[in-house]
Amino acid sequence: MSDGVLPPEEVADRAHANGVTLWALTDHDILDGVPQARARAGVLGMRFVAGVEISVTWAGHTVHIVGLNVDDANRDLVEGLREIRSGRTERAREMGRRLDAMGVENSYEGALEYVSNPALISRTHFARYLVERGYSRNLQAVFDRYLGDGCPAYVPMKWATLEQAVNWITGAGGRAIIAHPGRYDYTPVQFGALFDEFRELGGVGIEVITGSHTPAQYGEYAQVARHYGFLASRGSDFHSPREARVDLGRLPSLPADLTPVWHDWI
Ligand code: AMP
Ligand code: MN
Repeated sequence: MSDGVLPPEEVADRAHANGVTLWALTDHDILDGVPQARARAGVLGMRFVAGVEISVTWAGHTVHIVGLNVDDANRDLVEGLREIRSGRTERAREMGRRLDAMGVENSYEGALEYVSNPALISRTHFARYLVERGYSRNLQAVFDRYLGDGCPAYVPMKWATLEQAVNWITGAGGRAIIAHPGRYDYTPVQFGALFDEFRELGGVGIEVITGSHTPAQYGEYAQVARHYGFLASRGSDFHSPREARVDLGRLPSLPADLTPVWHDWI
C-alpha cells in the first residue's frame, strides 16, 4: 500500500510459499493493507501481526521506526500516520520540479503512474520512473545521483518525532523497533544518543538481520542489541520481486543468544 509493487495478498502468498510461518506487513506510514494481509494469512494458516514502518526525523536525518503487533484501528496511530503522510504530495511536486530542472521529463506525472495509493507518493515511485525511462540503470543509481539524502532532487521532510512514533506504536499495544540501523548516516556518538533516547521513550528492539544490512552489520547490530538489552528483529524489507536483495523468508536466522521480538507471539 506504500511503495511495494505487489498487493498485500500476493505478499502473503509469496511469504507462505517461501516457508514463512509468522509474518508482518510493514508499509511505510499507512495501515490500509493490514486487513487484506491478515485475511489472506488466515486463509493460508500463517500467523500474522499488524505492522507499520513510520518515517521519523531525528537529528536532521530520517529514521524508520517499525511498529509490530499494533492495533491497526487505534485512532491516535491512524490519525498520526495520516498527519505525517499529508506533506508528501507537495514534496513530490517539488521533487518533480527539481528533476525537471535536471533534464528529466514529466517526472511528477511519470512517478504518479507508479503510485497505487494517492495518499502515498514516495521517492521509490520516482526512482522506478527514472529507471524505466533510461535515466539510470537501477534504483540505487537513481538514489546516488538524484534522490538520495543531499542529492540535487532530494527534498527534505519533517516527519514524525521519535517520541510521537514510539508513543503511537506503544499506545496501540505494539512494540517499537528501529529499522535497519545500518542505513543511517550518524556518528557513533549520535548512534549512542539515538539508542539511549529510543529506549528511554519505550522503544524495545532493533532490526539485526535485514535485507538492508551486510553480513558485517548483522554482527555489529547483534552487539548493539546485547549492549542495550534490545529485542532483535528480522525483516526482509521486501518491495518487489525484481528489486529485492533478499526474498521473503530467505534471510539468515538471528544469533541464538538474542531474544526475538516475536518470542511470545509464537
Ligand atoms: P520516502 O519515504 O519517499 O523518503 O522514500 C524512502 C524509501 O526510498 C525507502 O524506504 C527505500 O525504500 C527507498 N530508498 C531510500 N534510499 C534508497 C537507496 N539508497 N537505494 C534504494 N532505495 C532507497
Ligand atoms: Mn519502502
